[in-house]
Amino acid sequence: MTHRVGQHFLHIPGPSPVPDRVRAAIGAQVIDHRSVEFAELGRKVLDGAREVFGTRHPVLIFPSSGTGAWESAVANTLSSGDRVLMAETGHFANLWRALAESWGVEVEMIPGDWRDWAEPDEIRERLAADTGHEIKAVMVVHNETSTGVVSPVAAIRKAIDAESHPAMLMVDAISSLGSLPYHHDDWGVDVTVSCSQKGLMLPPGLGLVALSPRAVEAAETSKTRRSYWDWGAMLATNPGGFFPYTPATNLLYGLAESLDLLREEGFDQVFARHDRLAAATRAAVTAWGLEIQCGNEAAHSSVLTGVVMPEGVDSDAVRTLILDRYNLSLGQGLSRVKGRIFRIGHLGQCNELTLLGALSGVEMGLADAGVHFRPGGVQAAMETLRKS
Ligand SMILES: *Cc1c(COP(=O)(O)O)cnc(C)c1O
Repeated sequence: MTHRVGQHFLHIPGPSPVPDRVRAAIGAQVIDHRSVEFAELGRKVLDGAREVFGTRHPVLIFPSSGTGAWESAVANTLSSGDRVLMAETGHFANLWRALAESWGVEVEMIPGDWRDWAEPDEIRERLAADTGHEIKAVMVVHNETSTGVVSPVAAIRKAIDAESHPAMLMVDAISSLGSLPYHHDDWGVDVTVSCSQKGLMLPPGLGLVALSPRAVEAAETSKTRRSYWDWGAMLATNPGGFFPYTPATNLLYGLAESLDLLREEGFDQVFARHDRLAAATRAAVTAWGLEIQCGNEAAHSSVLTGVVMPEGVDSDAVRTLILDRYNLSLGQGLSRVKGRIFRIGHLGQCNELTLLGALSGVEMGLADAGVHFRPGGVQAAMETLRKS
């Protein structure tokens, strides 16, 4: 392996770099998870998590990756044979679909070209056609991490309500939470799933799920067998600050700290910073004469930007060269766009100069790889950052 000197630039859209204060918090000695001291931590993180989701209702925290949070959403609210409606925004929508199908759920998938959001009008049409109200839930990915496309969750709820359809709304906010505004209650979401290693700036290992009263009711009638992922035991112990089994105590120390970091900066400032860095990244890509994977202006993600390589260029070869020469990790194209795009993550503790470092690495790498492009992207990004 190449010996790399100095700071590694981790610019994949999750896991994102962990701030020093969070790493220090995680390093504290583990404590008894049945103690009074732990209960205080438990209540602090469970309350704090509600603030990021924008909910007054329960948020549950599982020791798991985001996939575990997905599974808990499906296993607690749906039963084998239930129908749900999804939109193919990209790789993560397809993975959530496969997970639901493995539990016997029948998924109606609105096809997509991986360049656009989940279209509320199409969802409305599908629900209008479901006169027997067989569709139990609409499931969408808020920030599609494989493409850099954000779907309009509030408008999707309005589409469901416009048809007076009883479907629940379930949202994957795994890569948006803590980076983009999110309003679980105000947007009328029933289940929101997320995890620790993206906008919350923690290592992987925590799966978070926000519920609505309807979701809690659905969990009481779901026939799916479950144990580890069961919401009931969590809901029973969480009010005291406890968990039904051993929680990831040290990651909870980290969560308390990352929530403090977000609050200290101010949520609005955090979101505005993500918008600024994303605009600068898009300015660079446009100046390079390259295409952005998201084809809908209104749907551009402030978490990551997907960059399409010119025909005949292997994006993975460019990524590998950039990693080897400049110690910069970029996200790879997943499944349908493998080898076609790379993804620049600008989430979490990213600031102006770390972004410019990453963009410089990309610009040098494009030249080194012999990609046909125009120089000047970093300059364009600097100008955008100075003006904003
Ligand atoms: C990262 C991610 C996941 C998967 O999370 P894991 O922690 O890898 O299980 C799911 N959905 C989205 C949108 C993601 O970004």
